[in-house]
Amino acid sequence: MPDWVAEEHRYLFQNYGRQPVVIERGEGTRVWDVEGKEYLDFVGGLAVNVLGHAHPVVANALAEQAKKLIHTSNLFYTTPMIELAKLLVENSCLDRAFFCNSGTEAIEAAIKLARRWGYDTRNGAYEIVAFLDGFHGRTTGALAATGTARYREPFEPLATGFSHVPWNDLEAVKAATTDRTVAILMEPIQGEGGVNMPAPGFLRAVRDWCNENNLLLIFDEIQTGIGRTGSLFAYEQEGVEPDIMCLAKGLAGGVPIGAMLAREEIAAHLVKGDHGTTFGANPLATATGLATMKYVIENGLTGQAARGSDRLCTRLRSMEDRLPVVTEVRGRGMLIAIGLGADISAEVVEACRQRGLLVNNVRPNAVRLMPPLNTSDDEIDRACDILEAAIVAVTAPTAK
Ligand SMILES: *Cc1c(COP(=O)(O)O)cnc(C)c1O
Repeated sequence: MPDWVAEEHRYLFQNYGRQPVVIERGEGTRVWDVEGKEYLDFVGGLAVNVLGHAHPVVANALAEQAKKLIHTSNLFYTTPMIELAKLLVENSCLDRAFFCNSGTEAIEAAIKLARRWGYDTRNGAYEIVAFLDGFHGRTTGALAATGTARYREPFEPLATGFSHVPWNDLEAVKAATTDRTVAILMEPIQGEGGVNMPAPGFLRAVRDWCNENNLLLIFDEIQTGIGRTGSLFAYEQEGVEPDIMCLAKGLAGGVPIGAMLAREEIAAHLVKGDHGTTFGANPLATATGLATMKYVIENGLTGQAARGSDRLCTRLRSMEDRLPVVTEVRGRGMLIAIGLGADISAEVVEACRQRGLLVNNVRPNAVRLMPPLNTSDDEIDRACDILEAAIVAVTAPTAK
C-alpha cells in the first residue's frame, strides 16, 4: 500500500493540519481507514454529515440525480432548486433562497446583498459589525468579516468596512455602529471560535438594536443550521429572527452547497445581473439537499439531536466531578465543546484517535464534538468512555 500520508505531504498544499487517519469509507457514525481500523466519527465532517456516512437517503438522491441531470447552469430552470428553496422558505422565517457552493460563498452573497440594500435605501451605508472569535469563511470578503486577526493579517489589505467587537458585549455593538453601518453579522453560537454561547437575551438585544437603527441582522447558521442545535435553525430557540441567514455545511448531507436566505423586502434589492455562480443551485447539490432536509424535517431528527445531546452532556458533565481538568461543557444539540483547565486539547484529540474516536480541538483548551444528528445512545456512551480514558491518560503523571 502506498504511504498515503507521505504522498499527501509530497503532492498537496500543506495548509491543513490533518490527523494521521486515511479514511476510506463510512457508515452512520463510524468510519474505517485504509487498513480497516474502525473509528467513531464525532467530527462529523465538521458539522456536515447530519445523517452520518453513506446514509441511503443521501446516497440514493445523489445517485438518482446523477443519472438524470448533474448540471445545467443558471441560464435554465431545474426542479430540485425550486423544491429545496420552497422547503427552506416554508420552514424558516425567510422568503427567498439563493444557492451557492460553500459557506464562505453564502457569506459573500450576504455581504453583497446587505451592501446593495444599503446602496438603495440607506444612503450608501456599507459597514458591517461582526464579532471577535466569529468565523465566516476564508475568501477575502468573508475573511474580512472573520474576527480572528491571525487568519486575516497575512492577507491584508482586505475589504474595508468591517469591525469586530467582543462577543456578548452589547455596548461595544452600539459603540461600533455609525451612520455607515448597514448590518450586524453573527453566528447564533460561535462554532469555530470555541462553541461560545450567546449570553441569555444577547441575540434579542442585538435584534432590538438593529430595529432601532434600521440595520440588517445577518445570522451565519452555516454551522448551527440543519438541526445541529436541536431545532432546524438555532435562531428558533432564541426567538430572534434574522433578515438574512447563511447556510451550508449540513444542508446537503455532505455534498458541497451553500445558501443565502432573506426576507422579501431585502431580497428584492438583488436584481438581475447583480450576483451569480456557475455551479450554484446545481441539480446534484440541490436534489441531495432536498432529500436531506426532507428527511431531517419529516423524521424528527432535530428532536433526536436534542435527546442525544442531553445524554451526551449529562455524561460529559459527570466527568467534571471525576476529572478536575474538565472545567465546562458548553453548546447545544450536537454542537458541544468540553472546556479544559489546561492547553491539552491536541493531546486529548490524539489520545482519542489512538483509542478509536475522532474529535477536533477547536481551541487549545477545548475539544469539540459534532456527531451526526442521529448518533445512537450506544455510540454516545462509547465516545464518552473513550474521551474519559483519553483525558485520564493525558493528565495522569505516569502517561507522560
Ligand atoms: C464553516 C463555516 C463557514 C465557512 O464555510 P465553508 O464552506 O468552509 O466556506 C462560515 N461560517 C461558519 C459559522 C462556519 O462554521
